[in-house]
Amino acid sequence: MEPELIQHLRNSLASSPRLRIGLGDDAAILHWHDREDLVVTTDLISDEIDFLLAEVDPRRVGRKALAVNLSDLAAMGAEPIAAVVSLLLPKRPPQGTTLELATKLYEGMLPLCEQFDCVVAGGDTNSWSGPLAISVTAFGSCGAAPPLLRSAAKPGDVLLVTGQLGGSIVGHHFDFTPRVNEARKLAVEGLAHAAMDISDGLLLDLSRMLKESAVSAVVDLPAVPVSPAAAKLAESSGKTPLQHALSDGEDFELLFTASPEAAAKLASEGLLGTSVTVIGTLVAGEGIWADHVGGKRLEPQGFLHQ
Ligand SMILES: [Mg+2]
Repeated sequence: MEPELIQHLRNSLASSPRLRIGLGDDAAILHWHDREDLVVTTDLISDEIDFLLAEVDPRRVGRKALAVNLSDLAAMGAEPIAAVVSLLLPKRPPQGTTLELATKLYEGMLPLCEQFDCVVAGGDTNSWSGPLAISVTAFGSCGAAPPLLRSAAKPGDVLLVTGQLGGSIVGHHFDFTPRVNEARKLAVEGLAHAAMDISDGLLLDLSRMLKESAVSAVVDLPAVPVSPAAAKLAESSGKTPLQHALSDGEDFELLFTASPEAAAKLASEGLLGTSVTVIGTLVAGEGIWADHVGGKRLEPQGFLHQ
Protein backbone atom coordinates (compact mmCIF):
# COMPACT_ATOMS: atom_id res chain seq x y z
CA MET A 1 0.00 0.00 0.00
CA GLU A 2 1.27 3.47 -0.83
CA PRO A 3 2.76 5.28 2.19
CA GLU A 4 0.54 8.36 1.60
CA LEU A 5 -2.59 6.22 1.65
CA ILE A 6 -1.48 4.35 4.79
CA GLN A 7 -0.83 7.64 6.53
CA HIS A 8 -4.19 9.01 5.43
CA LEU A 9 -5.99 5.90 6.63
CA ARG A 10 -4.15 5.85 9.94
CA ASN A 11 -5.49 9.35 10.54
CA SER A 12 -9.05 8.55 9.53
CA LEU A 13 -9.71 4.96 10.62
CA ALA A 14 -11.44 4.43 13.93
CA SER A 15 -9.79 2.10 16.40
CA SER A 16 -11.56 -0.83 17.93
CA PRO A 17 -10.89 -2.94 21.01
CA ARG A 18 -11.19 -5.95 18.68
CA LEU A 19 -8.20 -4.79 16.64
CA ARG A 20 -4.95 -5.63 18.42
CA ILE A 21 -2.73 -4.84 15.42
CA GLY A 22 -4.08 -2.88 12.47
CA LEU A 23 -2.57 -1.05 9.50
CA GLY A 24 1.19 -0.82 9.17
CA ASP A 25 2.29 -4.33 10.04
CA ASP A 26 2.46 -7.40 7.81
CA ALA A 27 -0.91 -8.70 8.97
CA ALA A 28 -3.71 -7.59 11.23
CA ILE A 29 -4.41 -9.28 14.55
CA LEU A 30 -7.96 -9.42 15.86
CA HIS A 31 -9.11 -10.37 19.32
CA TRP A 32 -11.52 -13.25 18.97
CA HIS A 33 -11.33 -14.72 22.46
CA ASP A 34 -15.01 -14.25 23.29
CA ARG A 35 -16.34 -15.72 20.04
CA GLU A 36 -16.66 -19.31 18.99
CA ASP A 37 -17.70 -18.64 15.41
CA LEU A 38 -16.07 -16.64 12.63
CA VAL A 39 -18.47 -15.80 9.79
CA VAL A 40 -16.54 -14.85 6.65
CA THR A 41 -17.75 -13.47 3.35
CA THR A 42 -16.10 -11.81 0.38
CA ASP A 43 -17.34 -9.90 -2.64
CA LEU A 44 -15.59 -8.38 -5.63
CA ILE A 45 -17.08 -5.47 -7.53
CA SER A 46 -15.57 -3.82 -10.59
CA ASP A 47 -15.94 -0.88 -12.93
CA GLU A 48 -18.10 -1.49 -16.04
CA ILE A 49 -19.78 -4.52 -14.41
CA ASP A 50 -21.16 -3.34 -11.07
CA PHE A 51 -20.92 0.43 -11.58
CA LEU A 52 -19.62 3.01 -14.06
CA LEU A 53 -16.81 4.92 -12.41
CA ALA A 54 -17.01 7.67 -15.04
CA GLU A 55 -20.59 8.41 -13.95
CA VAL A 56 -20.63 8.01 -10.18
CA ASP A 57 -19.01 9.53 -7.11
CA PRO A 58 -16.29 7.06 -6.00
CA ARG A 59 -17.54 7.44 -2.42
CA ARG A 60 -20.74 5.63 -3.41
CA VAL A 61 -18.66 2.88 -5.02
CA GLY A 62 -16.59 2.42 -1.87
CA ARG A 63 -19.71 2.35 0.24
CA LYS A 64 -21.28 -0.29 -1.99
CA ALA A 65 -18.17 -2.50 -1.88
CA LEU A 66 -18.51 -2.76 1.89
CA ALA A 67 -22.31 -2.74 2.02
CA VAL A 68 -22.71 -5.85 -0.16
CA ASN A 69 -20.50 -7.73 2.28
CA LEU A 70 -22.42 -6.48 5.31
CA SER A 71 -25.60 -7.60 3.58
CA ASP A 72 -24.19 -11.12 3.29
CA LEU A 73 -23.20 -11.14 6.97
CA ALA A 74 -26.72 -9.95 7.78
CA ALA A 75 -28.16 -12.74 5.67
CA MET A 76 -26.45 -15.20 8.05
CA GLY A 77 -27.71 -13.37 11.13
CA ALA A 78 -24.16 -12.27 11.94
CA GLU A 79 -22.97 -8.96 13.30
CA PRO A 80 -20.08 -7.35 11.38
CA ILE A 81 -16.78 -7.06 13.22
CA ALA A 82 -13.96 -6.33 10.77
CA ALA A 83 -13.16 -6.07 7.08
CA VAL A 84 -10.10 -6.09 4.85
CA VAL A 85 -10.12 -4.13 1.61
CA SER A 86 -8.15 -4.79 -1.59
CA LEU A 87 -8.13 -2.10 -4.26
CA LEU A 88 -6.97 -2.63 -7.82
CA LEU A 89 -6.79 0.97 -9.01
CA PRO A 90 -6.66 2.35 -12.55
CA LYS A 91 -3.45 4.29 -13.28
CA ARG A 92 -5.58 6.86 -15.10
CA PRO A 93 -8.94 7.27 -13.32
CA PRO A 94 -11.77 9.20 -15.06
CA GLN A 95 -11.24 12.05 -12.56
CA GLY A 96 -8.35 12.98 -10.28
CA THR A 97 -5.32 10.94 -9.32
CA THR A 98 -5.11 7.32 -8.28
CA LEU A 99 -4.45 8.37 -4.68
CA GLU A 100 -7.47 10.68 -4.70
CA LEU A 101 -9.61 7.84 -5.99
CA ALA A 102 -8.42 5.48 -3.24
CA THR A 103 -9.05 8.15 -0.62
CA LYS A 104 -12.60 8.74 -1.86
CA LEU A 105 -13.38 5.02 -1.92
CA TYR A 106 -12.44 4.86 1.74
CA GLU A 107 -14.39 8.02 2.50
CA GLY A 108 -17.48 6.21 1.26
CA MET A 109 -16.74 3.12 3.28
CA LEU A 110 -15.84 4.59 6.66
CA PRO A 111 -19.22 6.04 7.70
CA LEU A 112 -20.79 2.63 7.06
CA CYS A 113 -18.03 0.98 9.12
CA GLU A 114 -18.83 3.31 11.96
CA GLN A 115 -22.58 2.80 11.65
CA PHE A 116 -22.20 -0.96 12.02
CA ASP A 117 -19.16 -1.03 14.32
CA CYS A 118 -17.03 -2.79 11.71
CA VAL A 119 -13.32 -1.96 11.79
CA VAL A 120 -11.09 -1.89 8.70
CA ALA A 121 -8.30 -4.21 9.79
CA GLY A 122 -6.12 -3.86 6.72
CA GLY A 123 -5.90 -4.35 3.01
CA ASP A 124 -3.78 -3.89 -0.05
CA THR A 125 -3.69 -1.62 -3.07
CA ASN A 126 -2.19 -1.99 -6.50
CA SER A 127 -2.53 0.00 -9.70
CA TRP A 128 -2.66 -1.14 -13.30
CA SER A 129 -3.75 -0.06 -16.77
CA GLY A 130 -7.22 -1.69 -16.43
CA PRO A 131 -10.43 -0.61 -14.67
CA LEU A 132 -11.08 -0.32 -10.93
CA ALA A 133 -11.81 -3.48 -8.95
CA ILE A 134 -12.52 -3.64 -5.22
CA SER A 135 -12.53 -6.78 -3.14
CA VAL A 136 -13.77 -6.63 0.44
CA THR A 137 -13.66 -9.55 2.85
CA ALA A 138 -15.77 -9.11 5.97
CA PHE A 139 -15.63 -10.98 9.27
CA GLY A 140 -18.50 -11.29 11.67
CA SER A 141 -20.04 -13.44 14.35
CA CYS A 142 -23.46 -14.76 15.26
CA GLY A 143 -22.40 -14.92 18.92
CA ALA A 144 -24.79 -17.04 20.95
CA ALA A 145 -27.52 -16.89 18.30
CA PRO A 146 -27.85 -19.69 15.78
CA PRO A 147 -26.97 -18.63 12.20
CA LEU A 148 -29.78 -18.00 9.73
CA LEU A 149 -29.38 -20.55 6.94
CA ARG A 150 -31.03 -20.98 3.54
CA SER A 151 -31.69 -24.60 4.37
CA ALA A 152 -33.95 -24.05 7.39
CA ALA A 153 -37.27 -23.31 5.63
CA LYS A 154 -40.11 -25.73 6.39
CA PRO A 155 -43.57 -26.46 4.94
CA GLY A 156 -46.03 -24.31 6.89
CA ASP A 157 -43.59 -21.41 7.20
CA VAL A 158 -44.61 -17.95 6.07
CA LEU A 159 -42.40 -16.15 3.53
CA LEU A 160 -41.48 -12.52 4.23
CA VAL A 161 -39.34 -9.72 2.82
CA THR A 162 -38.05 -6.46 4.27
CA GLY A 163 -38.43 -3.16 2.41
CA GLN A 164 -39.56 -2.78 -1.18
CA LEU A 165 -38.28 -4.52 -4.28
CA GLY A 166 -37.25 -3.67 -7.84
CA GLY A 167 -35.67 -0.79 -9.70
CA SER A 168 -32.48 -0.69 -7.63
CA ILE A 169 -30.52 0.39 -10.74
CA VAL A 170 -32.04 3.85 -10.22
CA GLY A 171 -29.86 4.32 -7.12
CA HIS A 172 -30.75 1.87 -4.34
CA HIS A 173 -27.90 -0.47 -5.34
CA PHE A 174 -25.46 2.20 -4.09
CA ASP A 175 -27.40 3.66 -1.19
CA PHE A 176 -29.10 0.68 0.46
CA THR A 177 -28.76 0.07 4.16
CA PRO A 178 -27.58 -3.49 4.82
CA ARG A 179 -30.25 -5.18 6.95
CA VAL A 180 -27.81 -5.97 9.75
CA ASN A 181 -29.92 -4.71 12.64
CA GLU A 182 -33.06 -6.40 11.36
CA ALA A 183 -31.29 -9.72 10.81
CA ARG A 184 -29.64 -9.62 14.23
CA LYS A 185 -33.02 -9.15 15.84
CA LEU A 186 -34.42 -12.09 13.87
CA ALA A 187 -31.47 -14.28 14.86
CA VAL A 188 -31.13 -13.26 18.50
CA GLU A 189 -34.86 -13.50 19.21
CA GLY A 190 -35.29 -16.68 17.21
CA LEU A 191 -37.97 -15.10 14.98
CA ALA A 192 -36.81 -16.51 11.63
CA HIS A 193 -36.19 -19.99 10.31
CA ALA A 194 -34.40 -19.56 6.95
CA ALA A 195 -32.97 -16.29 5.61
CA MET A 196 -30.88 -14.84 2.79
CA ASP A 197 -30.35 -11.48 1.18
CA ILE A 198 -31.85 -10.68 -2.20
CA SER A 199 -28.94 -9.88 -4.50
CA ASP A 200 -29.94 -11.41 -7.83
CA GLY A 201 -33.72 -10.92 -7.88
CA LEU A 202 -36.54 -12.17 -5.63
CA LEU A 203 -37.59 -15.20 -7.67
CA LEU A 204 -34.07 -16.38 -8.47
CA ASP A 205 -32.90 -16.02 -4.89
CA LEU A 206 -36.10 -17.62 -3.57
CA SER A 207 -35.52 -20.58 -5.88
CA ARG A 208 -32.09 -21.01 -4.28
CA MET A 209 -33.52 -20.99 -0.78
CA LEU A 210 -36.22 -23.49 -1.76
CA LYS A 211 -33.63 -25.80 -3.29
CA GLU A 212 -31.48 -25.72 -0.15
CA SER A 213 -34.53 -26.41 2.01
CA ALA A 214 -36.15 -28.92 -0.38
CA VAL A 215 -39.52 -27.16 -0.18
CA SER A 216 -41.87 -25.23 -2.48
CA ALA A 217 -43.35 -21.73 -2.15
CA VAL A 218 -46.72 -20.28 -3.06
CA VAL A 219 -46.19 -16.57 -3.68
CA ASP A 220 -48.99 -14.03 -3.28
CA LEU A 221 -47.94 -11.82 -6.20
CA PRO A 222 -50.24 -8.85 -5.41
CA ALA A 223 -48.66 -8.71 -1.94
CA VAL A 224 -45.07 -8.29 -3.20
CA PRO A 225 -43.95 -4.79 -2.13
CA VAL A 226 -43.03 -2.89 -5.29
CA SER A 227 -40.66 0.07 -4.94
CA PRO A 228 -41.46 3.47 -6.47
CA ALA A 229 -38.25 3.04 -8.51
CA ALA A 230 -39.67 -0.14 -10.08
CA ALA A 231 -42.84 1.73 -11.01
CA LYS A 232 -40.78 4.50 -12.56
CA LEU A 233 -38.63 2.09 -14.57
CA ALA A 234 -41.75 0.34 -15.84
CA GLU A 235 -42.87 3.54 -17.56
CA SER A 236 -40.21 2.96 -20.22
CA SER A 237 -38.87 -0.60 -19.82
CA GLY A 238 -41.72 -2.58 -21.34
CA LYS A 239 -42.00 -4.56 -18.09
CA THR A 240 -44.57 -4.17 -15.34
CA PRO A 241 -43.56 -2.79 -11.92
CA LEU A 242 -44.21 -6.27 -10.49
CA GLN A 243 -41.88 -7.89 -13.03
CA HIS A 244 -39.16 -5.49 -11.91
CA ALA A 245 -39.84 -6.35 -8.27
CA LEU A 246 -39.68 -10.09 -8.99
CA SER A 247 -36.56 -10.08 -11.13
CA ASP A 248 -34.37 -7.00 -10.70
CA GLY A 249 -31.07 -7.61 -8.90
CA GLU A 250 -29.39 -5.81 -6.03
CA ASP A 251 -32.33 -5.09 -3.74
CA PHE A 252 -30.23 -6.25 -0.78
CA GLU A 253 -33.37 -6.80 1.28
CA LEU A 254 -33.84 -9.83 3.53
CA LEU A 255 -35.89 -12.76 2.32
CA PHE A 256 -36.80 -15.02 5.21
CA THR A 257 -39.26 -17.54 6.58
CA ALA A 258 -40.93 -17.65 9.96
CA SER A 259 -43.66 -19.48 11.85
CA PRO A 260 -47.16 -18.07 11.20
CA GLU A 261 -47.20 -16.63 14.76
CA ALA A 262 -43.84 -14.86 14.39
CA ALA A 263 -44.75 -13.67 10.88
CA ALA A 264 -47.99 -12.10 12.11
CA LYS A 265 -46.12 -10.24 14.84
CA LEU A 266 -43.35 -9.11 12.49
CA ALA A 267 -45.72 -7.83 9.82
CA SER A 268 -48.09 -6.01 12.16
CA GLU A 269 -46.02 -4.72 15.07
CA GLY A 270 -43.03 -3.16 13.30
CA LEU A 271 -40.65 -5.23 15.43
CA LEU A 272 -37.73 -4.82 13.04
CA GLY A 273 -37.98 -1.04 12.63
CA THR A 274 -38.20 -1.63 8.86
CA SER A 275 -41.28 -2.58 6.86
CA VAL A 276 -41.83 -6.33 6.63
CA THR A 277 -44.30 -7.90 4.19
CA VAL A 278 -45.75 -11.39 4.05
CA ILE A 279 -45.47 -12.56 0.43
CA GLY A 280 -46.35 -16.23 0.58
CA THR A 281 -46.24 -19.57 2.30
CA LEU A 282 -44.08 -22.65 2.05
CA VAL A 283 -45.49 -26.04 1.14
CA ALA A 284 -44.09 -29.48 0.48
CA GLY A 285 -42.91 -30.06 -3.06
CA GLU A 286 -40.78 -28.06 -5.42
CA GLY A 287 -40.86 -24.88 -7.48
CA ILE A 288 -42.45 -21.46 -7.02
CA TRP A 289 -46.19 -21.06 -7.55
CA ALA A 290 -48.45 -18.02 -7.87
CA ASP A 291 -51.77 -18.53 -6.11
CA HIS A 292 -53.73 -15.54 -7.42
CA VAL A 293 -53.87 -16.95 -10.95
CA GLY A 294 -54.98 -20.44 -10.05
CA GLY A 295 -51.68 -22.08 -9.27
CA LYS A 296 -49.44 -20.91 -12.11
CA ARG A 297 -45.83 -21.99 -11.89
CA LEU A 298 -43.38 -19.08 -11.88
CA GLU A 299 -40.04 -19.34 -13.61
CA PRO A 300 -37.21 -17.93 -11.52
CA GLN A 301 -35.56 -15.09 -13.39
CA GLY A 302 -33.08 -12.57 -12.23
CA PHE A 303 -29.53 -11.50 -12.63
CA LEU A 304 -27.08 -14.34 -13.14
CA HIS A 305 -23.43 -13.46 -12.73
CA GLN A 306 -21.36 -14.65 -15.68
MG1 LIG B 1 -26.09 -13.20 -0.37
